[in-house]
Amino acid sequence: MRPSRRLDLIPPYLFAQLERKIAEKKAAGVDVISLGIGDPDTPTYAPIVSAMQAAVADPGTHQYPSNRGRAEFREAVAAFYARRFGVTLDPDTEVMPAIGAKECIFNLNLAFLDPEDVALASDPGYPVYTGGPTLVGARAVLMPLVPSLGFAPDLDAISAQDAARAKLMFLNYPNNPTGAVVPDGLFERVVAFAREHDVLVVHDNAYSETTYDGYVAPSFLAAPGAKEVGVEVFSLSKGYNMTGWRCAFIAGNAEAIAQYWRLKSNVDSGLFEAVQLAGVAALDPSVDAEVAAMNEVYKRRRDLVCDALRAAGVDVTPPKGTIYVWAPVPAGYESAAAYCEHVLEEAGVVISPGGAYGASGEGFFRISLTTPDERLLEAVERIKQLG
Ligand SMILES: *Cc1c(COP(=O)(O)O)cnc(C)c1O
Repeated sequence: MRPSRRLDLIPPYLFAQLERKIAEKKAAGVDVISLGIGDPDTPTYAPIVSAMQAAVADPGTHQYPSNRGRAEFREAVAAFYARRFGVTLDPDTEVMPAIGAKECIFNLNLAFLDPEDVALASDPGYPVYTGGPTLVGARAVLMPLVPSLGFAPDLDAISAQDAARAKLMFLNYPNNPTGAVVPDGLFERVVAFAREHDVLVVHDNAYSETTYDGYVAPSFLAAPGAKEVGVEVFSLSKGYNMTGWRCAFIAGNAEAIAQYWRLKSNVDSGLFEAVQLAGVAALDPSVDAEVAAMNEVYKRRRDLVCDALRAAGVDVTPPKGTIYVWAPVPAGYESAAAYCEHVLEEAGVVISPGGAYGASGEGFFRISLTTPDERLLEAVERIKQLG
């Protein structure tokens, strides 16, 4: 068997190697605590589960969905964007369901990139921003997120040649893995850049509902002119504890969404309609209280982790959003990977090396907050004792 060259160009999946190591440790009797993957540990909120139960019992949801999505879903998205972000969306042309944000972002690469094209990818970033362009035979150009700029990319540092070839730009705030929220004025600068260079901006919004300390995350689409140059991919996975459900949508530029639709009609057959109806329930204002309660849990965990890291001499800034703490690797380790390996070996705790999210993540590590408090506390105590 001969896999494609493009598949061979993709680096091995970040957690595959790690999973093997964890299995070895567990087999050797070590009580491993994993703070690696970001996957909410508490159940999907009850009203969403109830809506799904009712929807799944209705034969009206059992046939092929249309890629365009049910009217109720598109209308619920439009109502949510209006109430939550002050953004007006036409449910007929400016909203479509997606089978998770990952599917959507990958397929946007297929819909927009030819081999000579470039996608500008936030670095560090979600792996599909670089794997997607590579898999479709195009090229990702990394945009380092600069800590001193609040983890904004320096748009002036993008070369004229790369800017000319760029057709997509991937951004994500609140940001995985850095926990950064969007720096003031960035979305506006991005709109101007996209206009000048004819780039479609893809804002990956996986964390706008997961924020702390009174911070309210904006939608990219609320920036003036954003809808002319961009789309937002909104995932219900993290904010609504729905990672397994595969429920997301794309919103914004109607022409871009029409191309995504054209592509998808050749690739998949849409999002299960019962899941769409569960999504309608999730976006209802009555679920806001559940989201707020979940954020209280994450905030407590965030503080517990940050306090312990500070006590261990790590200079960490508590994030205002996301389910991650991003912290600099203590002095004396040759790389983030070396530090994370040390923590696994000596403390039996899995944390992610920043370099796994891109070259600019080197020197940092990421802790996910999706572990129950007691286990999280136990893990950070062990790390603290390592010194
Ligand atoms: C978790 C995550 C996703 C995945 O979203 P799905 O809807 O589950 O595919 C996308 N982007 C970022 C930045 C994420 O952290």
